[in-house]
Amino acid sequence: MPDNGPVQILLRSLLVLAYLVLALGIVVLCLGLIGVQLSQQVRLLLTVPMFVISVPAILVGRRLTSPFTEREVRKSHWKLLLRGCPPWARKVVAVSGWGAMLTFVLLVFAPASHRDAFAMRFLFPIYGMFFATYATAIFYSALHVGDERRQCSKGHDVSPMQSYCPECGENLSAGSGQAQKN
Ligand SMILES: [Zn+2]
Repeated sequence: MPDNGPVQILLRSLLVLAYLVLALGIVVLCLGLIGVQLSQQVRLLLTVPMFVISVPAILVGRRLTSPFTEREVRKSHWKLLLRGCPPWARKVVAVSGWGAMLTFVLLVFAPASHRDAFAMRFLFPIYGMFFATYATAIFYSALHVGDERRQCSKGHDVSPMQSYCPECGENLSAGSGQAQKN
């Protein structure tokens, strides 16, 4: 992707947007933690951008996994998605995912009378922050991953993880594969 100007600009804009949405999530969560009363509508409205930003992230994520075979994607989905991120970023995404799951468990065990308030104050912002973190990491990853699609000399698609063409068996391990331009 680096040699593609408009895509880079779009990704960079999405990344800035994702950072802003993530910051918004932190603010909403902190307001909940310190007990600032926001009306449900306001809190919901503030949470919506976090879920919305995950839509382009899913599309960009599909593009990130597209050079790989279905089996490779199934086996190491997150690793492939976030391969353009530093290793600590993967941990941050994992931690925010665990945080979201833990919040859900807490909601299940919360007294019924507190559930709605708990969901509004914590569950939505924490889930929103997970989506925003995920989106930030995906856009960052996409910006730092080159075009890895390869083809053998006969034009068969070869995943970046494969040394041999799955169709004709040509050896591409010596870097003889040609990168396919968009
Ligand atoms: Zn081939």
